[in-house]
Amino acid sequence: MEGVSEVLMNIILLGAPGAGKGTQAIKIAKAYGLQHISTGDMLRAEMAKGTELGRRAQGYMQSGQLVPDDLIIAMIMERFDGLGQKGMLLDGFPRTVAQAEALDKRAKVDAVINLTVPEDVIMTRICGRRVCPACGGTYHISRDDPKICRACGGELVQRPDDNPETVKKRLDTYLSQTAPLVDYYAARGILHSVDGSISIEYGFMKISAILEKLKNR
Ligand code: AMP
Repeated sequence: MEGVSEVLMNIILLGAPGAGKGTQAIKIAKAYGLQHISTGDMLRAEMAKGTELGRRAQGYMQSGQLVPDDLIIAMIMERFDGLGQKGMLLDGFPRTVAQAEALDKRAKVDAVINLTVPEDVIMTRICGRRVCPACGGTYHISRDDPKICRACGGELVQRPDDNPETVKKRLDTYLSQTAPLVDYYAARGILHSVDGSISIEYGFMKISAILEKLKNR
């Protein structure tokens, strides 16, 4: 594929809700031929299909809590089973130390990109976010058409958990349960922090520079 330099690395995108993980994930996966795996998207698909897992996850997601580790780990291991020979870009997984330990037993993690964004920017970002359920595209009402997806023409929606009250809860959840992963991966020397508050292009440029360096190691 033109413009794609495939890499066989497994990369994790870490960061608070609204840090830009989803937006960067789509760009990185395309540029490096990685399999984009978003546990949030997988759970929303389960909910839309009305499966048992979707029903069990719904309450947690709508209240800004994490879905229990056993459900997430079972879901992601099944997804890994179906993967071919491709590097993975994990977006929104792991979110707890228990999930990271389960991942360690299954796959080698080559790099963890930690997108950092100050808390005050996050609220404005998430509350103006619109997403395309058809292709996963993410937009913001301050700079994009609020209704139609630029990539596929689908109708944009606001996620039910993108409201100020739930965002506050999601941030608390992030700080208490997910932020410890920063130290977990820093201790192994594979953590790379990138300022996610400047612009999408800046974040992508920094992430690409990290991946290029790893590729040429
Ligand atoms: P996201 O689309 O990544 O922001 O995820 C939306 C919601 O799905 C989160 O607020 C959690 O309720 C749930 N979720 C997604 N990924 C995970 C995970 N790895 N562990 C637990 N809950 C998750």
